[in-house]
Amino acid sequence: MKGLADKPNYIIEILEGGVTLENVIDGHIAEQALVEKSAFVVGDLGALMQQHVCWQSVVPQLQPYYPVKCNSSPAVIEVLASLDLGFICTNKSEMSLVLEHGVPPENIILSGVCKQLAHIKYAAKNNIQHLVCENEAELSKISRLHSSAKVLLQLTTEAQAAETSMAFGSSLKCCRHLLEAAKELGVQVVGVTFHIPTSCEDLQQAYTHALSDARCVFDMGVDLGFNMNILDIGGGFTGSEFQLKQVESAVKPLLDTYFPPLSGVRVLAQPGTFYVSSAFTLAVSVIGKKLVTCHWDSLAQDENNDDTEFLYYMNEGVYGPFSCKLLGKSITAPSVHKHVLRAEKAVYPSSLWGPSLDQLDKVVERCLLPELSVGDWLLFSNMGVYALEEFTCFCSSPQLPVYYTVSTSDWYEMQEAGVALDSAMKNFSVVHCSV
Ligand SMILES: *Cc1c(COP(=O)(O)O)cnc(C)c1O
Repeated sequence: MKGLADKPNYIIEILEGGVTLENVIDGHIAEQALVEKSAFVVGDLGALMQQHVCWQSVVPQLQPYYPVKCNSSPAVIEVLASLDLGFICTNKSEMSLVLEHGVPPENIILSGVCKQLAHIKYAAKNNIQHLVCENEAELSKISRLHSSAKVLLQLTTEAQAAETSMAFGSSLKCCRHLLEAAKELGVQVVGVTFHIPTSCEDLQQAYTHALSDARCVFDMGVDLGFNMNILDIGGGFTGSEFQLKQVESAVKPLLDTYFPPLSGVRVLAQPGTFYVSSAFTLAVSVIGKKLVTCHWDSLAQDENNDDTEFLYYMNEGVYGPFSCKLLGKSITAPSVHKHVLRAEKAVYPSSLWGPSLDQLDKVVERCLLPELSVGDWLLFSNMGVYALEEFTCFCSSPQLPVYYTVSTSDWYEMQEAGVALDSAMKNFSVVHCSV
């Protein structure tokens, strides 16, 4: 094992005496102005804590399991591990990361449609027993390599199939077949998992189908002699308290009907976006600018069909922290750093591009912004999810600096909740930051 000294040391700033996140961002922008004006990220660890408090007050009956793929930065894993969350891993490096942070193997689930043999062996060796499975080939791998595995069958949902246009998971009919195959192979099946993506519009219908299907699989499993005791209702929580309450009101009556507390079934969920999205803000600077005229209708050349817009180039794009744009996610327009906001209030159609000069590197299509100059800064909030691979240690490209902060009140609340950052976080140093 490599020494801890090889790893970067992270600094967490505790904001005292009325210092705000905005002040911290201002400070780093001022620092960057003296050097290369490189992009950077600010992470608010208190936001993770606040999301946890929200989760526990709205859906206390759902045990949160955090999918590591959403954001694997060490501070996030450390805080969530200290709050006793479970973790969903999809490969060996995610499992070892979470184990290194002291998460007990019984709080880890190895997920994923198909798993590399070595990763199943690694789970077996490290006593990670809960594995997700959706097909027979996978089941036979598990039976060969992991004799004490406890399998959760991945059930397909219409909402997920609609989003990915590819059926993940197993249909109800195939589940029966899988259960019989598991019985034959001597693999223990202990429950069901499904996933409803955040893009799902009709929550009521999606959960009604998924939960009644899950009940059918439980009944089939029980018939075959399995001890079915885990139901995992997946992700799909946007991060807003309002949407969490909507999911709660869709799910609660269904759980009461199909999986009442007396049934002894443990109900889990996989909130990824929910925990991390709002905790990270990305600051980028404008490195180029053009005024362009678009001819929306090339046949009609009169003035009214012409449209001008500002085209700005930023120092990061889709081949960096905006990579989720390539996966079809849209990026919300940024806010403009306040030093740019001049007396003039006018806004103009603008589009924002990364630095690669590649056609795909269009980060924000068309939004309204005040006129910017080269050297101005833009702030993208809610950048905590699926963007961070670029700034974590598993990436070969140069990393963006990440500055972690926590407000004094969140800091106390975290300590009361059992997060002992100074002692537990070996790779972190805490500094106090005041005006
Ligand atoms: C990515 C993923 C999640 C996390 O979902 P969010 O909706 O982004 O929170 C949960 N479960 C599965 C199976 C996933 O692939």
